[in-house]
Amino acid sequence: MVAEAAAEVPEGGRDFIRDIIAEDRAQGRVQTVVTRFPPEPNGYLHIGHAKSICLNFGVAEEFGGRCHLRFDDTNPTKEEQEFIDAIARDVRWLGFDWGDNLFHASDYFEQLYAWAEHLIQTGDAYVDDQSPDEMRAARGTLTEPGRNSPWRERAVAENLDLFRRMRAGEFPNGARVLRAKIDMASGNMNLRDPALYRILHATHPRTGDAWCIYPTYDFAHGQSDAIEGITHSLCTLEFEDHKPLYDWLLDKLPIAALGQPGRPRQYEFARLNIAGLVLSKRVLTRLVSGLHVRGWDDPRMPTLAGLRRRGVPPGALREFVKKVGMARANSVVDPALFDFTLREGLNRTAPRRMAVLRPLRVIIENYPEGQTETLTAANHPDDPDQGSRPITFSRELWVEREDFMEEPPKKFFRLSPGREVRLRYGYFITCREVVKDAAGEVVALRCTYDPATKGGTAPDGRKVQATLHWLSAADAVPAEVRVYNPLFARPDPGADGDVFADLNPDSLEVLAGAMVEPVLAGLAEGEAVQFERQGYFCPDPDSRPGALVFNRTVGLRDTWAKESGRNAPPAVGKVR
Ligand code: ATP
Ligand code: MG
Repeated sequence: MVAEAAAEVPEGGRDFIRDIIAEDRAQGRVQTVVTRFPPEPNGYLHIGHAKSICLNFGVAEEFGGRCHLRFDDTNPTKEEQEFIDAIARDVRWLGFDWGDNLFHASDYFEQLYAWAEHLIQTGDAYVDDQSPDEMRAARGTLTEPGRNSPWRERAVAENLDLFRRMRAGEFPNGARVLRAKIDMASGNMNLRDPALYRILHATHPRTGDAWCIYPTYDFAHGQSDAIEGITHSLCTLEFEDHKPLYDWLLDKLPIAALGQPGRPRQYEFARLNIAGLVLSKRVLTRLVSGLHVRGWDDPRMPTLAGLRRRGVPPGALREFVKKVGMARANSVVDPALFDFTLREGLNRTAPRRMAVLRPLRVIIENYPEGQTETLTAANHPDDPDQGSRPITFSRELWVEREDFMEEPPKKFFRLSPGREVRLRYGYFITCREVVKDAAGEVVALRCTYDPATKGGTAPDGRKVQATLHWLSAADAVPAEVRVYNPLFARPDPGADGDVFADLNPDSLEVLAGAMVEPVLAGLAEGEAVQFERQGYFCPDPDSRPGALVFNRTVGLRDTWAKESGRNAPPAVGKVR
């Protein structure tokens, strides 16, 4: 998308970030807008990241600038090549292209090291020998100032010597750190002599064993922004308190020597939170490692890989992010807004098919044995351009088990003894007899059809109150259908302390005995269809000829809204 960016200024007033950028351009403070998406490769991307990706790549595209993909790979103990590959794949899938602008914080390790020495030389950094516990104890609290380290006034030469020996690998993990010398009494905890470099004897996915000291997030992030000429460093609100440090470091370092046209500025926006979803990588990692789900791409996961596997089109995600908007205050979004957006897109495009998830046999008594006929089913009720397909009618059919009740309550209009209903694109049928097994379980319905109602209308004008989906038993194809429910059983998982105690035991329903139309055997992975009256589905990557597997992407109705008496489209930020 970035590739085809037009260098025109978008309409103003869309959100505060775009307003800031438009103003910077209007005032001539910024020529080319350069943003970055900076994931740490310690897990898969999730739907929250989609907001950041759409924002960073989106504004770059709208203002005719560029957006970098930068891996923030400064903690080799948690980062893996698998995550690096997955992140790149997911950003591309979401529809964005960084072109040549792929970077890693590790590309700058040598420069960052040189800048650390610079800060030692200028008396703005020192090597601290305190243990991690001592440092924590001396840090103070939000109401109490911290205490200066006994090593704070070390001479420059000694600091330099120790820092070089840290790099040379002379000391074990945690023995020393390099700290900025700012203010142990600052009201902002991030300015109480923050760590810049720590000792970590660990192999890095990219730099191998070249380093045994690694820069902290704070010492890598703004510096990487400066090196790359980022103009607008857009991040989530939790970094607001880091901004004074971000600016302090850029003020102290000789970044003008880089020759970039300006210096980066950090702006914060609200994280995306969705009721019922957990978007913490720490928890997502434990869901995977603890086998609570089938992997990072389990369709119940809020990861982009999981959403893709569930059948969510990338365009629906982008549209959702647009609907949520770019607020500066944190809020919680109703998940019904996501489902609504999903249905809105799929409703337009997904062809209609018939599938019976829990089949019940129907025998049409007055239809000759061995005879079949071909009927015509529209592929989309509102879009004649999608054409039609042939479907088969025969003496034995499948209908949905829940479309029959032997003793129907007042408002149940579907099949029951003596009741006439319409089969979609087929005939009117009337239930004559219920067949049960020895245990009293209903195993089949004996029905009759009215040959005059072909196509679904009666020449005498008589009406039926229900239209059912169905399949001809002779050519229906067996399939496994996976129905996903929320992974957590409450809108605020973990509010009582243990997020894993809130897992929904019914998050996955496997319907192993489903039946689908034969055309569905030819559907490609991820291709969306609507199973009439059931929802939107797509083939799972596990699907094989002869062993079809479908995932339910989203149901047709917002059951949550129905239960809570709300109407779609749902509001943003109004949950709890
Ligand atoms: P962690 O779960 O460890 O805090 P993270 O989700 O912040 O990790 P990063 O890889 O650091 O993961 O995130 C990359 C970028 O995505 C950051 O700029 C971060 O601000 C942004 N981001 C992360 N989560 C969200 C979210 N829920 N909404 C919007 N942006 C997010
Ligand atoms: Mg983070």
